[in-house]
Amino acid sequence: MALNGSTIPQPPSPNPFPMKFCSACGNPVSLRTPAGDHLARHVCNACGVVHYQNPKLIVGCVPEHEGRILLCRRAIEPRLGFWTIPAGFMELGETTQEGARRESFEEAQAEVEIGSLLAVVHVLHADQVHVMFRAKLPQPQFGPSPESLEVALYSEDEIPWQDIAFRSVDFALRRYFDDRQRGVENHHLTALDYRRSGGVR
Ligand SMILES: [Zn+2]
Repeated sequence: MALNGSTIPQPPSPNPFPMKFCSACGNPVSLRTPAGDHLARHVCNACGVVHYQNPKLIVGCVPEHEGRILLCRRAIEPRLGFWTIPAGFMELGETTQEGARRESFEEAQAEVEIGSLLAVVHVLHADQVHVMFRAKLPQPQFGPSPESLEVALYSEDEIPWQDIAFRSVDFALRRYFDDRQRGVENHHLTALDYRRSGGVR
């Protein structure tokens, strides 16, 4: 059944840069529900291409070296100056584990061994899914990068909880320590949505 002109409520679009032109042919697009679809999409008025927008995957890890955790102080916005774990946008052609390993090297010059899945956090207000793994840092070798002002190892009681950059990272770290204390490696799922409360993380 065609759903053109559907009255199904559309989700709010948090995208601050709505699409205006077709990347295939350069003509203007309009927001409408294609036949057979259930959500409004950017559809090219000239060539008819439907430009789907989907959540982006962020991959990262909690690297541990002799009981301490590797954290990076962000050199870039958002949350410049706050602490986070190595994490970033997944690239085409890599697995989530490969992406997490790559980000550790890019952000912290750290060669990590990716372990078990730690957390999947749906960050609804940012249209992102954060996938975080446990990891080992065999050698205490790391350093700053264009993305990290400084990189350091923290024991659990030294973690700067008030200066953690993102709620998803706070969630992953707390679950990490909880599991470690209990001697288990569970998977943890949650969803964050700050659009209603006006938060930014
Ligand atoms: Zn087009």
